[in-house]
Amino acid sequence: MSYQVLARKWRPQRFDEVVGQQPVTRTLRNAIASGRIAHAFVFAGPRGCGKTTTARILAKALNCVAGPAAEPCGVCDACVEIAQGRDIDVLEIDAASHTGIDNIREVVIAGLAITPVRDRYKVFIIDEVHQLSPQSFNALLKSIEEPPPHVVFMMATTELHKIPDTILSRSQVFEFRTITPKAIAAQLRTIADAERIDASDAALALIARAADGSMRDAQSALDQVMAFAGERIGVDEVSAVLGLVGRDLLFELIEAVVAEDAASGFAVADRAVEAGHDLRLVVRELSRLVRDLMVVTVDPARAGEGDLAEGERERLQELGSRFSREDLMRAFDLLASAEQEIRAAWQPRYHFEMMLLRWMHLRKLVPLTELMEQLKSQTPTPKSQSGSMTRSAAAPTPAAPIAPTRTPPVAPTSASPVAPARTAPIAPSEGTLKDRFLAEVRAGKGFFYNTVVAQAQRIDVADDGITFTFLPTHRALREQFEQTRPWLESTAERVAGRRIAVLGEMRELGAAEEEGHRRVGERAAACADLVLVVGERARPLYEAAVAAGTAETRFFNAPADAVPILRDELKAGDYVLVKASRAVALETVVDALVAP
Ligand SMILES: [Zn+2]
Repeated sequence: MSYQVLARKWRPQRFDEVVGQQPVTRTLRNAIASGRIAHAFVFAGPRGCGKTTTARILAKALNCVAGPAAEPCGVCDACVEIAQGRDIDVLEIDAASHTGIDNIREVVIAGLAITPVRDRYKVFIIDEVHQLSPQSFNALLKSIEEPPPHVVFMMATTELHKIPDTILSRSQVFEFRTITPKAIAAQLRTIADAERIDASDAALALIARAADGSMRDAQSALDQVMAFAGERIGVDEVSAVLGLVGRDLLFELIEAVVAEDAASGFAVADRAVEAGHDLRLVVRELSRLVRDLMVVTVDPARAGEGDLAEGERERLQELGSRFSREDLMRAFDLLASAEQEIRAAWQPRYHFEMMLLRWMHLRKLVPLTELMEQLKSQTPTPKSQSGSMTRSAAAPTPAAPIAPTRTPPVAPTSASPVAPARTAPIAPSEGTLKDRFLAEVRAGKGFFYNTVVAQAQRIDVADDGITFTFLPTHRALREQFEQTRPWLESTAERVAGRRIAVLGEMRELGAAEEEGHRRVGERAAACADLVLVVGERARPLYEAAVAAGTAETRFFNAPADAVPILRDELKAGDYVLVKASRAVALETVVDALVAP
């Protein structure tokens, strides 16, 4: 006996065998049981969800010798022939084919007058009915308006909105649902067990998910895998035959992103390439997983329902808890554009790897609103200086003019010298003292502020003194600083209401610290269109970003200076990265990255 494909062999024969459409089948059974039988039905829903199958069962229910019956006997001539699609009184017409369109006139309209040959009803099952031409619809409408009592129309469509209202208003309309992956997997399990196939849950879940709500597709996929793998089916077999990407691989990729472990992310990418996966498909499946993560984060209650595969819930929840909603939305966008890039790429793998890196980076982005809050609430907490700081004698070299490239673009347009949001606190903390002091300096000696103060590597404020630190390479600045020091001290005294010493120091950065600055700056420039650097300590970062030359880079002395820029130039919905390098504290480094 020849092999019968699963979709046919397992085609439901009774209403209660139709998977995932209980509301529809229950209503139909009730209607038949109570003798209220409409003359036209519209079955709408995605492909493979059981519309035509339900129509056939309904035809059997109407025409069974023991009927009309909600439970057709399944053994009478009518039941058997309808199930096999060869009952002379039940006509199946595919409106998508040319013959189907012609048939409407010739078969349907002409056939209406003829009474059924054997059965109780003449049934017309019209598949893809939305494909009919307007003329055909008109012809059909006339038949539906005044059908002979022995005629029933069952129209199936994937596109309900294309059916004229005149047809809909004369029909009972049933909307079929997409079958959940969980329901499909359960049915595949029933089939596999009955067929004595040793299939793993993960393998069946993978098939079910790829079927996108179509039981028919799922069954034919299982057919294919069985033909290749025989009676033992695991994820690898499914993956090899159908080219599907195993969920484990996807989870591992996202876990690498969460851990910011680029090396292991690349290793998993290697495996995907070796397994012969189309990287676009991997990206698409990643989107699907991100969407699942979104579901568990947004609506944990739904995570228990059919959307998610059996046994994945905990893993999803654990992983989901490590992403913010914003993270996931951005990841979704990132994956969508990566799919486009990979499609056109000469080396898809490079783009895939870059996508992973970008994703790791994106996770650090915080919403602009959050950044603004941080900036507003920030009070710098100066670290006490350890003995590592070495005082160096001021070199007597005459002051050289500042190289123009070094001139920081400190917002010179600001009319008010006083930083906003710093209105005289009752008990000024050190942080506010620093801000008010710097604002005074900027107001009183703007050029000095822009050329010297802004170049200081760091400015520390303690109870009795303010210390400016310059890099040894900035000796010339130090000279200018010394000349202005008396004015600085009087300004500080005026601001603080007490005597404050102002000191200038020279100090080398630790090699590691400098390297850290440089890396962050380069990376920032590589990732962003606009890099905003705040604070003297981040100067090397700023310089590295400028040297990279790939992003617009701006420097600000205080977070408050950057706020107007953020407010004016970033659009709502832009994102900004706040990232303190390991070497530098958050309050002095804000590199703001504008995400696309
Ligand atoms: Zn029967």
